[in-house]
Amino acid sequence: MRKIIIAGNWKMHKTQKKALEFLQESKSNLEEMNGTREVVLCAPFTALSVMSKSLYAGLIHLAAQNIHWEDEGAYTGEISGAMLTELGVDYVVVGHSERRQYFGETNETVNLRVLAAQRHGLIPILCVGESKLQRDRGETEPVIINQVKQSLINVNQSNLVIAYEPIWAIGTGDTCEATEANRVIGIIRSQLSNEEVTIQYGGSVKPSNVDEIMAQPEIDGVLVGGASLDSVGFARIVNYQ
Ligand code: PEP
Repeated sequence: MRKIIIAGNWKMHKTQKKALEFLQESKSNLEEMNGTREVVLCAPFTALSVMSKSLYAGLIHLAAQNIHWEDEGAYTGEISGAMLTELGVDYVVVGHSERRQYFGETNETVNLRVLAAQRHGLIPILCVGESKLQRDRGETEPVIINQVKQSLINVNQSNLVIAYEPIWAIGTGDTCEATEANRVIGIIRSQLSNEEVTIQYGGSVKPSNVDEIMAQPEIDGVLVGGASLDSVGFARIVNYQ
């Protein structure tokens, strides 16, 4: 049985105070949630410690938004797996398109980060997705297949989540058609040796479209950016029908 994972990616939003307020506001909604769904909050590094110590920590799993491939060293501004596990983190987002676009991540560094996450007992949420130009040129399939293959070299597929996030759908309000997301996720799955890998869709998911997305047979969850910042909206997404 593939695990259903609903994840909120807060990006560079929320101070410690705001993160704790979110948890408090979400308490009753998350408690009512059907236990078959796992809820993950990808919070900024600075909020992870207080969140993991909060009274409501048991309602969610925590994710970091990046991990370095070395265990320690002269890598100013980076964070290691050991530093994250100490904070009660279970997951880590790797290869988000914003990291690829603004911080020079390549499939090679993404692969190193995925391997580091697993070495430290963390579950990587590997993000893949094509740009608008690549889609318009009909290159979606080769781009995605290449990203998956390159990022998963020597990776154990037992502790792995993949998020299909078409870049043109991220933060634009322009959601990928649910059936098209389902099709691409099917292609991603065909590249894997483990049928049990959870594959999420991400890109302008909101309360109004989550039900249709989650009705697709290949889609095992969502990675939600903007709409995860509001506790009421996020609760509706978690409680998709
Ligand atoms: C994301 O950040 O991974 C994302 C999908 O953002 P949004 O939901 O805002 O498009």
